[in-house]
Amino acid sequence: MKYQDEFRDRDIVQGLASRIRELVAGRREPMTFMEVCGTHTMSIYQYGLRTLLPPQVRLISGPGCPVCVTPNEYLDRAVALCRVPEVIVATFGDMVRVPGSTSSLLEERAKGADIRIVYSPLDAVALAAANPGKRVVFLGVGFETTAPAIGGSILAAKKQSLGNYFVLAAHKTMPQPMRVLSADPELKIDGYICPAHVSAITGPDAYRFLAEEFRIPCVITGFEPVDLMQGVEMLARQVVAGESRVETQYSRVVRPEGNRKAQAVIREVFTPCDAPWRGIGVIPGSGLRIVDAYAAFDAGKIIPVEVEETKEHAGCLCGEILKGKAAPADCPLFAGACTPESPVGACMVSSEGTCAAAYKYGQ
Ligand code: SF4
Repeated sequence: MKYQDEFRDRDIVQGLASRIRELVAGRREPMTFMEVCGTHTMSIYQYGLRTLLPPQVRLISGPGCPVCVTPNEYLDRAVALCRVPEVIVATFGDMVRVPGSTSSLLEERAKGADIRIVYSPLDAVALAAANPGKRVVFLGVGFETTAPAIGGSILAAKKQSLGNYFVLAAHKTMPQPMRVLSADPELKIDGYICPAHVSAITGPDAYRFLAEEFRIPCVITGFEPVDLMQGVEMLARQVVAGESRVETQYSRVVRPEGNRKAQAVIREVFTPCDAPWRGIGVIPGSGLRIVDAYAAFDAGKIIPVEVEETKEHAGCLCGEILKGKAAPADCPLFAGACTPESPVGACMVSSEGTCAAAYKYGQ
């Protein structure tokens, strides 16, 4: 298949659904597959893929939305930073509306804070160059996918000898939470729909431990409905055969070695660190912090702020949803007190959040 339309072809999708039904026919025990990518979550809801699957195949969403997994303490720090005189906070759009413990960047902007939405970290570097009297702090949130671009922005700022560009880094790396979830006795994950963009950076070997140590099949899958249904079929085939290996459905983009250039930028600018995940807690080695050689660009080190005590939002089930232990409809606030217009939790704000997907496209 060469064109995007072919990856949305209804007949091909239906054909794959039939193959999955045949594969699991007569099987009593259900199989549960988790996706850990917010774009996969959106596609699954948008195309109603769950409705095409037999009852033996269940899809659940995991911690794949980068904004959603970023805990309140980071948002509170961003809020504190934007209150510092002569600081401009630059961020991707989704972060602005996510409620922190007592405020959000949107509320702070209404009160006069200088918060700019940018489409690329290099826009934030340009902002710093254009405002030499101010300090520009970019909110560095995301997985392996965004880390190279944000690392690249630090390299660009260094090249331009900018002393007023900083990153508040909260990058996370994907394989470690999958280890935590795989070992969780309350969850029984039979297969992972592995992320597409993250895997394009890391390569498939990042998931090998899941197949070898936990005996869980993994399939790196593209975003279109044909991709996802084929990924599910490949997972079901492994489960039925009693096999566990890492396969790549998204081979038109993901290379066995990943993206070496991007990996080199990450290694140059960041080093692994323990990181807090909303709902999961601190996971050893699951974050990326700025290395000492680039500490001059680390907002966490250079611009100290007082951060108020972190609080969680009463009644919000985002933490359980991000672990795949609850669905949006399990939350008593879903579509009532919590809507995209008036979100209580991050999962309703982000364009990749599970609650936002369920609200937009129905259950
Ligand atoms: Fe949190 Fe709102 Fe989702 Fe409930 S519906 S889990 S309050 S984001």
